[in-house]
Amino acid sequence: MQYDYDDQNIFAKILRGEIPCQKVYETQHTLAFSDIAPKAPHHVLVIPKGPYVCYDHFARAASDAEILDYTRSIGTICAELGVAPGDDGNGYRMIANAGHDGVQEVPHLHVHILAGRNIGPMVMMRP
Ligand code: AMP
Repeated sequence: MQYDYDDQNIFAKILRGEIPCQKVYETQHTLAFSDIAPKAPHHVLVIPKGPYVCYDHFARAASDAEILDYTRSIGTICAELGVAPGDDGNGYRMIANAGHDGVQEVPHLHVHILAGRNIGPMVMMRP
């Protein structure tokens, strides 16, 4: 596994407080904030504070404490947004883009949580 983390990416700058964000939730290992160009009424980005490029990098290299904190944070955020189906919420979609074919723009792991309307088909079919 070879990942070169670019510490000049925009989410690294948010983590260092160099640029602002609209914070939704924060723990020791995790930060969540509103997407600057929301694609749904709720569009939250959840990032680990550690330098992980994408999900498989995080899943293979992060500590158990980071993974536990990140996963629990996503659950808490969905509950706090009121979108968790188990709480009678209307549901959500989680997306984690990775690399070229995943069309990842920012090379710091982030899960998108999209909710507040029907999010539509999973992917656009292309020939
Ligand atoms: P991705 O294509 O999965 O890498 O998504 C990157 C996301 O980051 C996009 O949805 C952008 O709108 C969002 N984004 C970029 N810059 C910022 C920023 N400064 N604050 C919040 N969200 C951002």
